Amino acid sequence: KSLSTTDYKSKRHLVKWQAESSHGPKIPYLGMPFMVIQRATYECRHGPLHEHSYSGSMSKKVACPAKAYVKKIVIFTDPAFRVEEKSQPRYKVVKNLKAAIARNENLSVSYRVYVKFPGVECHEGHGFDESDPVNPPSAVPKAD
Ligand SMILES: [Zn+2]
Repeated sequence: KSLSTTDYKSKRHLVKWQAESSHGPKIPYLGMPFMVIQRATYECRHGPLHEHSYSGSMSKKVACPAKAYVKKIVIFTDPAFRVEEKSQPRYKVVKNLKAAIARNENLSVSYRVYVKFPGVECHEGHGFDESDPVNPPSAVPKAD
């Protein structure tokens, strides 16, 4: 499954209103319920899987631990599911949403991708010249 997926029905996902994460991207309160349908990790191009030859005669292997974390979410945008105020109860909305999904209703949704790029301090063993871009990461996505 890749980041192009739009499938939120074949697997059960938690209904969320916001998401905190120690290393992944944070998702703020949107006023609408959402589900995380895909997660991916991108390694730095100097990461363990990739050997990198520097220009010139010197070839050096580094194992940079920096990673970018990606979350793809589906947001349920129907006004019936909106809860503008964080303080309002949301359990009924979640219940109605789950029931609507179970009935296979055609819901209005939109998709968003959140990315948390590693800070410069997360990289080890290599520099940052202009010919050596860090973002976007060049590694292949890996489902976790
Ligand atoms: Zn790096």
